[in-house]
Amino acid sequence: VTESTALVYRSHGVPSQVVQLETHKLPALEAKSALVKMLAAPINPSDINMIQGTYAILPDLPAVGGNEGVGQVLEVGSQVQTVKVGDWVIPRDAGLGTWRTAAVFSEDDLVTVPSDISVLSAASLGVNPCTAFRMLSDFESLMPGDTVIQNAANSGVGQAVIQIAAAKGIHTISVVRDRPDLQQLTDRLKAIGATYVIKEETLRKPEMKDIFKVCPRPKLALNGVGGKSATELLRHLQTGGTMLTYGGMAKQPVTVPVGALIFKDVKVRGFWVTQWKRDHKHDEALRVMLEELCTLIRAGKLSAPPCTEVGMKDFHKALDNAMKPYISSKQILVM
Ligand code: NDP
Repeated sequence: VTESTALVYRSHGVPSQVVQLETHKLPALEAKSALVKMLAAPINPSDINMIQGTYAILPDLPAVGGNEGVGQVLEVGSQVQTVKVGDWVIPRDAGLGTWRTAAVFSEDDLVTVPSDISVLSAASLGVNPCTAFRMLSDFESLMPGDTVIQNAANSGVGQAVIQIAAAKGIHTISVVRDRPDLQQLTDRLKAIGATYVIKEETLRKPEMKDIFKVCPRPKLALNGVGGKSATELLRHLQTGGTMLTYGGMAKQPVTVPVGALIFKDVKVRGFWVTQWKRDHKHDEALRVMLEELCTLIRAGKLSAPPCTEVGMKDFHKALDNAMKPYISSKQILVM
């Protein structure tokens, strides 16, 4: 492999307009770098926001799109120690540029993952399941029988939350937006372990009381949406519980009712997996978590979300589809 075809953007703007397919010669392999053939890479909301120029971290332009994905090591430099030929690897941090057929990466930018899980699971392991895992572990001490409530429950993060929580015996109240095929979506989320699947409107209805006759009020609310949806989640928290915001799909600020602060002393916090990975760059926490997630995957307890596999040449359609509401399928570029 001597050249790479990549999805590159030279200015910020509408993704399907500013991204283009370019082929370049690969740089020479250096002592501490590895030649990686990419296998698959998802199109996530943060990738879209980076191209639009609205994300918290932005690359120098021109940039190759994509922050996660899995590749296979084809060749290693003379001093490489942590990866070997044949290994599957994922990025250690955001911003690597994964939407390309091949690349020469520094070994420090890569983490190995086992190759006995599916390509789709490996390609989508480093961001959403890690986010779900940390949010369920680091903020409230959750015991079997406890409850977590979350919006955007059919997102990649939401589905990982459902499955990881179910594996730990934690109830999930999963909130989704209403849609024509709501029953089908509900059945699918229940099949992967959701205890309750409700639509946004139900959060304001008396029938919520019936749920809390069966399971305790949530200690933890996970907010990937913002706006009214977040406020409604807050109303159902236990006294002293935490609402953790990790995404803002509605692009609306979070409003916290005064009563929730005064009478229930709720904690309002945020989580960013990129920061977590940077904070744990020099310890074993990432590796330990990836191993635990792979154990769940092998046990059939954690699967990748439904995916639409797209060839690199069909990137216009994939980028547009990744931005459509109610699509319920992760667009994944396969190289
Ligand atoms: P997906 O692309 O898998 O799913 C997107 C989700 O957002 C769907 O559930 C969709 O619901 C919902 N959605 C889209 N638009 C709206 C809207 N206007 N109002 C309410 N819901 C909406 O997303 P990911 O799981 O990959 O990411 C979800 C969010 O989490 C993103 O904001 C992402 O940036 C963030 N994230 C944050 C991380 C962190 O570390 N903080 C890490 C990973 C992700 P529907 O089916 O109804 O359209």
